[in-house]
Amino acid sequence: MSTSPQLPVLGFDFPLDAPNGWHEANRYLLYTGHFALDAPPIALQEWLGSGVETVPMRERQLSMVPAGTPHRLTHLSGFWRTSDADLIVLRAVLPEALYVCLYVSSGPTHHYDRICWYCNECGATLAPWTYNVERYGALSFWNKVLEPVRAFNADEAQRTCQACGAVHPLAYGFEAADDTTEERAARAGW
Ligand SMILES: [Zn+2]
Repeated sequence: MSTSPQLPVLGFDFPLDAPNGWHEANRYLLYTGHFALDAPPIALQEWLGSGVETVPMRERQLSMVPAGTPHRLTHLSGFWRTSDADLIVLRAVLPEALYVCLYVSSGPTHHYDRICWYCNECGATLAPWTYNVERYGALSFWNKVLEPVRAFNADEAQRTCQACGAVHPLAYGFEAADDTTEERAARAGW
């Protein structure tokens, strides 16, 4: 009796060279993406309450963002996300591309995903937005997130810090294919 390595495990199979995107598998939400090696580097950042910590980049890296920790990926998500669910980030540099996989463990305690921005000058929270994942589903957040991003870009009042008056740079969503010209420039910048 032989087993074929081609068969998907438990009905889910995500080739790494498939188009970048999200997949749903039971309680897990998986993103697979691949990026040119000379593209601006994708790194995991966490917000520690008073400043940004960039996780040092290694060629093979598995990082866990615990539930409740604001986080983003440079040049991939132009907003800070905070979730009830843990996030696992797998980063691998291979000869042909950088591969990034994200795993959201979306179980029964996953009620909300939130986004916001932090003032670059004083760290104040800007334009908080909450999404009911329990009601609409974990995947839906990633399809919806461009709406608050564009509202943030369209309204300088939202981008202006109430505490210090600094204006936050333009933001961008998660899917580079959806970028406007301004969003593409923002994605290249941070
Ligand atoms: Zn400020």
